[in-house]
Amino acid sequence: MSDVQGYIDREMHRFQEELFEFLRIPSVSTSSEHTSDIRAAANWLEARMREAGLETEVMETQGHPVVLGEWRGAPSGAPTVLIYGHYDVQPAEPLEEWHSPAFEPTVRDGNLYARGASDDKGQLYLHIKALEAHLKGAGSLPVNVVVLAEGEEEIGSPNLLPFVEAYHQRLACDAVVISDGSMFAPDLPSLLFSLRGLAYFEIHVKGPRGDLHSGTYGGAVVNPGNVLARILASLKDETGRIAIPGFYDDVMEWDPATRDAIRSLPFDQEGFLKEVGAPSLGGEPGFSHLERVWIRPTCDVNGFLCGYTGEGAKTVLPSRAMAKVSFRLVPRQTPDRVRELMEEHLAQVSPPEVEVRLVELYGGRPWKADPEGEFFEAAKKALEDAFGTPPVLAGEGGSIPIVVDFQEILEAPVLLMGFAPPGANMHAPNEWIPLAYFEKGIRAVASFYTEIGG
Ligand SMILES: [Zn+2]
Repeated sequence: MSDVQGYIDREMHRFQEELFEFLRIPSVSTSSEHTSDIRAAANWLEARMREAGLETEVMETQGHPVVLGEWRGAPSGAPTVLIYGHYDVQPAEPLEEWHSPAFEPTVRDGNLYARGASDDKGQLYLHIKALEAHLKGAGSLPVNVVVLAEGEEEIGSPNLLPFVEAYHQRLACDAVVISDGSMFAPDLPSLLFSLRGLAYFEIHVKGPRGDLHSGTYGGAVVNPGNVLARILASLKDETGRIAIPGFYDDVMEWDPATRDAIRSLPFDQEGFLKEVGAPSLGGEPGFSHLERVWIRPTCDVNGFLCGYTGEGAKTVLPSRAMAKVSFRLVPRQTPDRVRELMEEHLAQVSPPEVEVRLVELYGGRPWKADPEGEFFEAAKKALEDAFGTPPVLAGEGGSIPIVVDFQEILEAPVLLMGFAPPGANMHAPNEWIPLAYFEKGIRAVASFYTEIGG
């Protein structure tokens, strides 16, 4: 047993107790009544990082502070690894649905329940403990490290990009490691090879000045609701493919080896159908379920607003209609290009009797890793050491825009290794993490540095 893994054995109980303390601080970033808790969490984290052997600083932003930790004592020529995580959490409501209080960490059957257990305090803290195991157990780390812990992830990281741009020299690194996601399946660790991006719009259709009587005016005045329905119907064809001309031009076709690897992953279609509770599943022809949610783009109506929707009948010809429509994007697509294509398409399909306007709400670019090189190899070996099975390469249907920014600004590969269990109830009541995953995560990250150093 190495000094490092032996240290983890001896100190594991204290590591858990510290995590409980961290979880007791209700650092909810979205609500102003928790501003002092956010500050308390930042200060608490800084103190623990200092005790672990890092040089630390709480750095102000326009919003909640960033906690920075650094250790730069590795032999010359050793790489530098940047670890990113967040110490803020989602609100705990609805409180009555928690089986134990959200901010009172409780262990049941070896699983730790608390807001932030998986997202992301548990996963951030396991990194700090892995660093401590090297610095205190072995006396040094084989690599230089920078820890960047922000307090605004759950509100969209409004100050993170300016921070990374302003301090890009201090944050310079050879690899970025992020643990803020889930494993592919229970006890099956994973490394991500892609994230989808996002382009989010509102389509506004405006007809007559005000709502009209559908008897007096209907048939002679074009109804914005009917027009919007036609527009929405034109976005996809009946097979499930997106029908906006040019939409697939930038969509990357993945290599056959990656597609084969995705298709070979275990996927429980029946269980999934049960989970979503839909009559049956559907999607783009020619692609498997995991391909549809990982490597293919989407177009989804997220909401409608039009006319009378109260009880009973009201014969109204509404003056306006609005729909929210979002696209999940895949590598080589950009939110800007999708907006241009949407504008061209709307110009084609909109009749002259109404005004149609596109409003862009939000965009984020997709991300793709090159899952090779020394850092990926070291991560694979380390995850296998800790979990007893090699990790699978997985995609992710959701979006984390900062990942692309890290990769481009810091010019370093990003490794996304999540230690949360599938179904961790992140953002929901009864968030949890198995204590075994917290410990295996510490061991895996500690081995990762040993591997790189070796
Ligand atoms: Zn998170």
